[in-house]
Amino acid sequence: MKTVAVFGSTGSIGVQTLNVVRRFPHEYKVVTLTAGSNVGLFSKQVAEFSPSVAACLPEIELPDGTIGFFGDNAASKAAEITEADIYVMAISGLAALAPLQECIKRGKRVALANKEAIVCAGEIVLDSAAKYGTEIIPVDSEHSAVFQCLKAGERGDVRRIVLTASGGPFYSDKNVDLSAVTPEQAVRHPTWNMGAKISVDSATMVNKGLEIIEAGRLFSTNFVDYVIHPESVIHSMVEFADNSTVAVMSYPNMELAIQYALTYPYRFVNDGVKPFDFSVPLTFGKPDEKRFPAPALARRCLLEGGTAPAVFSIADEIAVDMFMKKKITFTDITGIIDRALCINETKRVESAEQLYELRDVLEKQIGAFVSRK
Ligand code: NDP
Ligand code: MG
Repeated sequence: MKTVAVFGSTGSIGVQTLNVVRRFPHEYKVVTLTAGSNVGLFSKQVAEFSPSVAACLPEIELPDGTIGFFGDNAASKAAEITEADIYVMAISGLAALAPLQECIKRGKRVALANKEAIVCAGEIVLDSAAKYGTEIIPVDSEHSAVFQCLKAGERGDVRRIVLTASGGPFYSDKNVDLSAVTPEQAVRHPTWNMGAKISVDSATMVNKGLEIIEAGRLFSTNFVDYVIHPESVIHSMVEFADNSTVAVMSYPNMELAIQYALTYPYRFVNDGVKPFDFSVPLTFGKPDEKRFPAPALARRCLLEGGTAPAVFSIADEIAVDMFMKKKITFTDITGIIDRALCINETKRVESAEQLYELRDVLEKQIGAFVSRK
């Protein structure tokens, strides 16, 4: 039996992680759960799984035997005292960085769904994982696929990683006026059901940009491309020196990638996803970087390194929040990221605190752009 700690248990990935755990009651036991402010769902999860440690933002009543932490640092404090075999990091945004750093210090496995922390603080996170002997298994479906594809050859023989992108809800219809897209339209993804922020990121293609940087960091390469693949059946590919391309395919299903991160190096039966029956034609398209410039911006940030990826990610997080509150338009999101990259000089990333300061600076700058518009 392996023990599992789920950070961000009330979110899309967190809920699906608990579905996987429920399917294997003899293999996995939940020892820690953390949430943000969805206390209704969180209380039900705590009652069902009776974790030893629970944390969320507001103070709530917990059953006897569960140690509780509340407030902004609660997830980090929970990570500090958690003894688990697997730490699933499914908190969204830069808020995941501090608890992720604590999880890494435990020296076990981190099943990493969050992408913003590794994009902003790749060096810090990976150096620390190496120092503590922590194994990071990606949960993001593309990176899970790349992780699996890399097993087919030697690292020195990898020519490039090719991520697949569904394109989100607006890619295929060139007549959609992107500047008029509403938050309600943007969160409706054609092939995946995800949290609000990542759904908006998929619609702007910022998500693919974050994933390009994430892949560059996780797999230590600058050779990361992407292709439009609307069916989301091929989850990503690795091209080797002999021009062979290895791919991972299945019907789109996040529980499969989550399950793999828990069971790796083994594969358990999965009744939640049907075997692929080849009835779906698979198609590929060239990216349209004029309408969707974010992946190209991200590639530049990957090559530039330092704080450039953090500016990309944090400016997006601030802009998406403003878009959801209807303070800016859909196309403003990428415009704001571009502008933030232009006015902030790239520096070396030395510490997490530096990134929190960068967030404060970006909040002020972006607030000023928006009020001037
Ligand atoms: P959701 O928005 O659905 O869930 C986020 C989780 O984090 C919730 O449990 C939320 O709590 C919690 N949370 C948010 N802010 C804080 C905070 N400040 N402190 C503590 N907890 C917080 O996101 P997703 O599940 O969609 O995504 C999670 C991460 O995984 C993201 O980084 C995303 O990019 C990545 N990812 C997601 C995929 C998906 O299919 N959804 C696919 C690949 C990667 P509450 O709701 O209780 O407030
Ligand atoms: Mg993904």
